[in-house]
Amino acid sequence: MSPSLIVHGGAWDIPDEAVEACKAGCRCALEAGWGVLTRGGHALDAIEAAIIVLEDDPVFDAGYGSHLNLDGQVECDAIVMDGATLRAGSVAGLHRVKNPIRLARAVLEKCPHMMLISEGAERFAAQHGITLCDPQELISSAEREAWLRCSKDSHAAKHHRGHEQGTVGAVALDVRGRLFAATSTGGTCCKLPGRVGDSPLIGCGCYADAETGGVSSTGYGEAIMKVVLAKTAADFLRPAASNPDRAAQAAVQLLAKRGKGTGGLILLDKRGNPGFAFSTPRMAYGYVAPDSTFVTAV
Ligand code: ASP
Repeated sequence: MSPSLIVHGGAWDIPDEAVEACKAGCRCALEAGWGVLTRGGHALDAIEAAIIVLEDDPVFDAGYGSHLNLDGQVECDAIVMDGATLRAGSVAGLHRVKNPIRLARAVLEKCPHMMLISEGAERFAAQHGITLCDPQELISSAEREAWLRCSKDSHAAKHHRGHEQGTVGAVALDVRGRLFAATSTGGTCCKLPGRVGDSPLIGCGCYADAETGGVSSTGYGEAIMKVVLAKTAADFLRPAASNPDRAAQAAVQLLAKRGKGTGGLILLDKRGNPGFAFSTPRMAYGYVAPDSTFVTAV
């Protein structure tokens, strides 16, 4: 089976000055994941490698450089899902984990539960060899400044515009047909402490089913949850005559119509054909074309 990989760096009103950095970040993530897949590696290793690159890049809202919550803290969520077993590993409300995707993977592989939050999740991390960091290490100077600007005006919504999103995600299929999807986020700018969006919720921010495909969503979490966006998109892949782009578009249209929100998603169908759609002004994404070239766009 031919491997396949698609990544995203968030659907939002990405400003012109961030376009090249977003494209470069997606390219680096593809390189990391594709290197694993072309060596015959496991889709889970590929997806973890790709997401770590995106989490470590402060242009995206995940891991280091995540948006700050109302208290000026980073609070991260992440999920990874196995299309074969329908098992997910999900974590939310993390303050001290540099790469939340590592912890999501540990939950997937080593935990009897599928979702852990906050202190319990961090305790599980420490027990499974994931070093906890100082919460301050996750704060970038750009996000600190943005937060200070917002706080001068009681965090009025107008300051968050153009600075709201940048969640990351990936879907990978390996040579042995193993399909995984993942999403990682710092959530929305100046969110209430304790707020959890769609991203770490199975079926909302992420879904993978070897019988349909794998999906990672991004956008306004409170709307995405209403239409269970990732599972909805995966279900649109079920008919034999389905088309990946059309399935993605139909899901994003439903998000607008019933969820009254904007966003985007990437997917691979069960054979590894990529698709994507977004209703925001821009989305950062990249995939590997059939001739093995990297396509990145914003
Ligand atoms: N969906 C994320 C959230 O609401 C934000 C994003 O995708 O950028 O937490």
